[in-house]
Amino acid sequence: MNFALSEQRALVKARAAEVFAALGAEDTSKHQRCIFPDHADQDPSFRTYGERFICTCSHGDVIDAVSRVTGLNHAQAVHWAAERISGGFSPVAARPNVIPAPLPRNGYAAQLWISADREDAYVQQHAYCQRKGIAHAFGAGRTLVSGSVVGEQADCVVVPIRENGAGNVIAVQAISDAGAKQTFGTLGDGYLLVGDERDLSAPWLVVEGWATAHAARQAERCSIVLISFGKGRLQKVAQLAADRYQPAAISILAEV
Ligand SMILES: [Zn+2]
Repeated sequence: MNFALSEQRALVKARAAEVFAALGAEDTSKHQRCIFPDHADQDPSFRTYGERFICTCSHGDVIDAVSRVTGLNHAQAVHWAAERISGGFSPVAARPNVIPAPLPRNGYAAQLWISADREDAYVQQHAYCQRKGIAHAFGAGRTLVSGSVVGEQADCVVVPIRENGAGNVIAVQAISDAGAKQTFGTLGDGYLLVGDERDLSAPWLVVEGWATAHAARQAERCSIVLISFGKGRLQKVAQLAADRYQPAAISILAEV
């Protein structure tokens, strides 16, 4: 079956119990040992509630759980889970195939991303999104962040910065209500790809910053946007994406 990402996401959430079972959380009615390989849980601390889980180590929805256990990004995690539902997966076989999530180099960046709520309805209510006319999550999340630029326990949009644009989260950029931006983690060669990276014939656009990328995609709906973070990296991101994905063409949008 080949559903759009949003349909797959709805399916995965509607049948979260099956997906949690595939991850090793069999009984949804009570606390159990944490399913995450990086949490040495001595007590049964993990519980699921419908499509969400909560543990002493983290909380989130079923897709976050898949992402953390498998190391896949959000979109890939949705596909992974949806395939297991529509294909009548075997919970017994699923567990040994699971690859433990590599722990990102920067613990705080990883923690921010794991704790971020990525629901469209919640992200779009953030003051920065309201001001920029961003009416969905657009690859980002929202959580409380403490840092020298954004302040203590600031309600921020957190934008993941990924390996090869679509891989593991290596850093995050937090954006406060006032639009102050602070990066956590090691930026390295990271950037963020929004769109389906398999669509090589769509317009691929390299843009500086998350909100500008959103505006660019509004203007050209089926484009794939590659978000560069920090000044003077547009050319570099274009080169990295060209090497990695080899789309038909990549355009750099000049900073505005
Ligand atoms: Zn845990």
